[in-house]
Amino acid sequence: MSKRDYYEVLGVSKSASKDEIKKAYRKLSKKYHPDINKEPDAAEKFKEITEAYEVLSDDQKRAQYDQFGHTDPNQGFGGFGGGADFGGFGGFEDIFNTFFGGGTSSRRRDPNAPRQGADLQYTMTISFEEAAFGKETDIEIPREETCETCHGSGAKPGTKPETCKHCHGTGQISVEQNTPFGRIVNRRTCHYCNGTGKEIKQKCPTCSGSGKVKKRKKIHVKIPAGIDDGQQLRMAGQGEAGMNGGPAGDLYVVFHVRPHEFFERDGDDIYCEMPITFVQASLGDEIEVPTLHGKVKLKIPAGTQTGTKFRLRGKGVPNVRGYGVGDQHIKVRIITPTKLTDKQKQLLREFAEISGSAPLGEHEDSFFSKVKRAFKGE
Ligand SMILES: [Zn+2]
Ligand SMILES: [Zn+2]
Repeated sequence: MSKRDYYEVLGVSKSASKDEIKKAYRKLSKKYHPDINKEPDAAEKFKEITEAYEVLSDDQKRAQYDQFGHTDPNQGFGGFGGGADFGGFGGFEDIFNTFFGGGTSSRRRDPNAPRQGADLQYTMTISFEEAAFGKETDIEIPREETCETCHGSGAKPGTKPETCKHCHGTGQISVEQNTPFGRIVNRRTCHYCNGTGKEIKQKCPTCSGSGKVKKRKKIHVKIPAGIDDGQQLRMAGQGEAGMNGGPAGDLYVVFHVRPHEFFERDGDDIYCEMPITFVQASLGDEIEVPTLHGKVKLKIPAGTQTGTKFRLRGKGVPNVRGYGVGDQHIKVRIITPTKLTDKQKQLLREFAEISGSAPLGEHEDSFFSKVKRAFKGE
């Protein structure tokens, strides 16, 4: 089966804003979350939605997707900062360089100069509560590390790499090309030594000459309290190993927060809706409201209308930078009873008789008189 377009998966347009993408993801992930939706293909759909969101919510990945679609060679793990060098006649820059003889700085670098390792990205899905209160956890990431047998040289211990005969140690080969603009000398990475400028006669048995080994590295991550969906944590020096003694890259942990079945979050504030009966709304009551910090009692005043909003100060999410705690906002919704016993119906009819046909509210003059006038055609 071919992969669906990410924009199509989220049901947004190609020009959708970050906010629109986030909203679409929220809505769909709520609908298809395997904890909520028990249909057989829900898990698969949820995965598809999450993947689409991971790409479209990240500016860099979205740009790559817009350019290359699903075939982007840089997508997936480790593609983050690894970047521009995917060899061959690749991107725009390459075409540009061929015609105008450019590519001075990046392509003519000294192969022996220290180079920083690639940045890595790790996506961690956490619960709503974990995002609010933080958590400490270990993750395992596959990454390249300097080979301990040869200390990164790639040569068998006791031997040394020799200078590459094809590029004379520069790592670059000149290729002459005929173009519509005339004869142009283009410099390409030497494919005999892969741009290292060195030839390894006897390869290190551990890393087969690459100087690097793939390892699964355990990293301890402290998820800060108050982290929000799409935010990331930079862990300096936890990316891939550098070359020629260069520093390691960084690791970016990107958080995806699973939606909550009851709470909605906007910044540090939490929103929810509480159903109450029309008797509670009419006579007033004290109800229990769930919050992230436990149950809280909320007084419903007599005569409360549906849609009335209440605020519980400090019952939201702690600010990720330590600036206090958000609030919880509660909107009450009055539920009209649908299953009434004969006795209840009888009492309501009596209630209506005593009350007359007019609604018993202070808004009668304003709203209901307008309704009446509308019926009379005034
Ligand atoms: Zn080695
Ligand atoms: Zn070479």
